[in-house]
Amino acid sequence: MSNCAIVGINWGDEGKGRMVDLISSDYDIVVRYQGGGNAGHTVINEYGKFSLHLLPSGIFRKDVISVIGNGVALDPESLVTEIDYVREKGIELSPQNLKISDRASLLMPWHKELDCLEEQRLKDKAYGSTKQGIAPFYSDKFQKKTMLAGELRDEKSFFDRVTPIMEWKNLTLKNVYGAEPFTYEKLKAWYDTYASRIIPYLTDTEEFFDSAMTEQKNILFEAQLGALRDIDFGIVPYTTSSSTIASYAPIGAGAPAMKIDRVLGVVKAYSTCVGEGPFVCEWSGDKAERLREEGMEYGAKTGRPRRVGPLDIVATRYGVKAQGATELAVTKMDILSFMDEIPVCVRYELDGKESDRFPFPSRLDDAKPVTEYLKGWKTDISGIRRFEDLPKEARDYILYIEDKVGCFVKYISVGAERDAIIIR
Ligand code: GDP
Repeated sequence: MSNCAIVGINWGDEGKGRMVDLISSDYDIVVRYQGGGNAGHTVINEYGKFSLHLLPSGIFRKDVISVIGNGVALDPESLVTEIDYVREKGIELSPQNLKISDRASLLMPWHKELDCLEEQRLKDKAYGSTKQGIAPFYSDKFQKKTMLAGELRDEKSFFDRVTPIMEWKNLTLKNVYGAEPFTYEKLKAWYDTYASRIIPYLTDTEEFFDSAMTEQKNILFEAQLGALRDIDFGIVPYTTSSSTIASYAPIGAGAPAMKIDRVLGVVKAYSTCVGEGPFVCEWSGDKAERLREEGMEYGAKTGRPRRVGPLDIVATRYGVKAQGATELAVTKMDILSFMDEIPVCVRYELDGKESDRFPFPSRLDDAKPVTEYLKGWKTDISGIRRFEDLPKEARDYILYIEDKVGCFVKYISVGAERDAIIIR
């Protein structure tokens, strides 16, 4: 038995979905353990190109069981749409290969509405939410004002408990935002549309993982977003509302006592960031535009242009430590082939001093990047499959990253397709 967590080291969008799709062939179970429909994990394989939001990226492997754990914000509307979409593309999904924790809390329609209303209220101070209801959902979860997916099984008791929650949410909708309240009829229509679609997949995932451990199954945990978006260790308040950190994986999956053997941290060869908040190494103008175009850096969920810059070693080292990464995958190396020299943000300057320590979140606004340049390789590397066949400059870049962040780079991704990978 061997367990691995695939996690983001930076701001998200590092290519985790691509790495899960690649290595899931070595695993029996792939589980999503936090976050929700705000994810956009891109996978390109023999079935086509997919942007997965709630479904684990292991769904394409016939022998893999996919699990949506209790830590996920389970939005039935988003999930049902996604299930129908992947089925249309020829993927077989059934209660045999897809399990949904009956302890996952339900993201309700009012969560999305409140997310939009709050971002509108904040105007130019908005957090840059994907408006999928994630922050209102997790705050309600911790207020114990959410329903468990397993409660869908009994309609009467579901409504006995959800109706007072709806009435409580209506107070905020009406009195804070001046919005239309939710009605029982609307809620009943929601239940009638989605409950029967979710119920067949509901599983006692603690029992499921208990058996999986007894049977020595290999389990792969798939994280959403990256360390810098973690609710505790990220750039507060520009974080997501859940824990993106590997050590949360067993809890959010439904196997709280499980040990993780490998933590594969995914790092993009340069930096990108979606949404608001400090981004010390950010570029602007023509050079940003060129990198964004070369890397096709537009959000998988929202289509928003991503902010771009060179690899931020300070943030990456912090992310590696927070995740407890035992190995790294560097993705999108092929994108840097157009550069004469490869810029790297190695330190921050703060209060007139240079440091390689990641500062306290509120100090990031004052930090300035200190950049070093490595020689570029200026040749197409997307067809290369062995480390020793990479141009020396590309190998040097990988060795430089290893040296600076203190973690072995096991995988180098040179294209979005499944086989465009160098394994060391
Ligand atoms: P995730 O959320 O971490 O799974 O990452 P995203 O799916 O948001 O973003 C990664 C994007 O980069 C997707 O469009 C992938 O298809 C693409 N991608 C991943 N690895 C590579 C690579 O090595 N080269 C290129 N050119 N594209 C890649």
